[in-house]
Amino acid sequence: MTGPLGAPSHVLIDLDALSANWRLLRDMAQVGALHAVDCAAAVKADAYGLGLGQVAPVLAAAGCTRFFVAHAGEALELRSLLPDPAIHIHLLHGPMGDETGALAESAITPVLNDLGQIARWQAEARKLGRPLPAIVHLDTGMNRLGLPDQETARLAEDPARLDGISLACIMSHLATADEPERPEVQQQLERFRALTARLPRAPLSLANSGGIALGPEFAFDIVRPGIALYGGRPAARGANPMAEVVRLRGGILQVREIDAPGAVGYGASHSVTPGSRIATVAVGYADGLPRAAGRPRMALLDGWQVPIIGRVSMDLITLDVTTVPAAIARPGAMVDLIGGGLCLDEAAEAAGTISYELLTGLGNRYARHYVGGA
Ligand SMILES: *Cc1c(COP(=O)(O)O)cnc(C)c1O
Repeated sequence: MTGPLGAPSHVLIDLDALSANWRLLRDMAQVGALHAVDCAAAVKADAYGLGLGQVAPVLAAAGCTRFFVAHAGEALELRSLLPDPAIHIHLLHGPMGDETGALAESAITPVLNDLGQIARWQAEARKLGRPLPAIVHLDTGMNRLGLPDQETARLAEDPARLDGISLACIMSHLATADEPERPEVQQQLERFRALTARLPRAPLSLANSGGIALGPEFAFDIVRPGIALYGGRPAARGANPMAEVVRLRGGILQVREIDAPGAVGYGASHSVTPGSRIATVAVGYADGLPRAAGRPRMALLDGWQVPIIGRVSMDLITLDVTTVPAAIARPGAMVDLIGGGLCLDEAAEAAGTISYELLTGLGNRYARHYVGGA
């Protein structure tokens, strides 16, 4: 267990479920493919808030040899966790400023997002007098990172811009992978095929978690799941095939009987009537439980669905436990807020957000229990 002493609320992270999810995604990406598809892992933002130091070694032990992070600092931290040179570490933001030397020295394979980054990496390779591996990222419609069409055209006309760079992969990223009916999905696929046909041959990569669920034509050579590894649903529809990795449990601090009409919490926004019972739980927005709510939010107490009522405070929430026997709704009991029967995506939706934001926002006040992964 890690985390602050006496933390009343817990995050449980199931590392066996994590490796099972990686194997399932690897197998899903392989269905219908005529060649081996390499399944990488997106572990940026401290492995989506779950702890890079615990997550990355477990995925490597499961067989994952390719990891994507966002920041140079994350890439270097990951290299010290996984020093084996057979492990590929890809830096999504690419080499900025004067980081190139440190990245090359730590055998980081950056993603090159524009001609400037390509030139910078090429200059580093010249300086070292040896080829350096890199991924080239093409923008196929997201307008966020990656070479815009004019730059891809210039690269196609002048492939010498890649001299000294060994092309580990050409990638792009899908804007609407979780909404398969959107026309953008096919448009990006076609654009990716057309653009890569003009560049030197290299392994190709397009699919994130949602992309894997879109089908075999999206798998290419390397897939890059993130959220589905951590239990988020890869497809918008149908049952979620992923195992539950994260369980968030809040400790009840107090239970009170309401004996006069009144209201609960800040803003006195939720009225209560005599006879109701309120449990106060040690989780708040400082622990990543969003204050804004999309719709009524639920917690689970020993199988009982209990509504979260009133406003979310910094350190506390309040639950209506009127229907739950007093022996169950008592100080010290734990309620489930994510997992344990409460689906991650539904909990996120009820909080007006997405699973990604919920996980990366979990904060560091919880006691963290890692199970499995031996
Ligand atoms: C974060 C990220 C991924 C993983 O996406 P998920 O939706 O979490 O599966 C893949 N590729 C890129 C470029 C990313 O930034």
